[in-house]
Amino acid sequence: MDALVIVAAALVAVLFATLVEYFIHRGMHWGFIYPEGHRRHHEQNEARTFLLDFVDYGSAALLVGWLGFLISVPAGIGWALGAAAYTVLASYAHQLQHANAALVFWMKRPVHRLHHNHDMTEGNFGVLVDWWDRVFGTYTPIEYPHQAGPRRLRDYMAIPWR
Ligand SMILES: [Zn+2]
Ligand SMILES: [Zn+2]
Repeated sequence: MDALVIVAAALVAVLFATLVEYFIHRGMHWGFIYPEGHRRHHEQNEARTFLLDFVDYGSAALLVGWLGFLISVPAGIGWALGAAAYTVLASYAHQLQHANAALVFWMKRPVHRLHHNHDMTEGNFGVLVDWWDRVFGTYTPIEYPHQAGPRRLRDYMAIPWR
């Protein structure tokens, strides 16, 4: 039973985190969250490093990552694990879409790469996933080729780590 609660809490945490990700990025374009810094990110069109993203995403995750313990210990563990998993996945997804978006296999199109390539201000706010763009009507599909030929682990590892 506890294991089930842990897994469920972790999944809900990841789902919630992707929703927060969507609205934080959207808020940056609305202009009330870190607008200057985000404009620079668009102008430079590069993503610093995994470690710096990890610190950014991770500080947000720390703020709310303990809340599950208000419900129960298993819920707390699951929620915290979900927050940690999200932090790693989102930092990686951000880096990979800047470094080599053709490798992104878990979305039909690498929405964050498209968001940057077309300097979008009204669409494709997702980073790790595209589903909230689809839900809220901001999904802007533009073709982007997936990697043709073999996908090698070494290519997936070729991002700026620190
Ligand atoms: Zn943006
Ligand atoms: Zn970016």
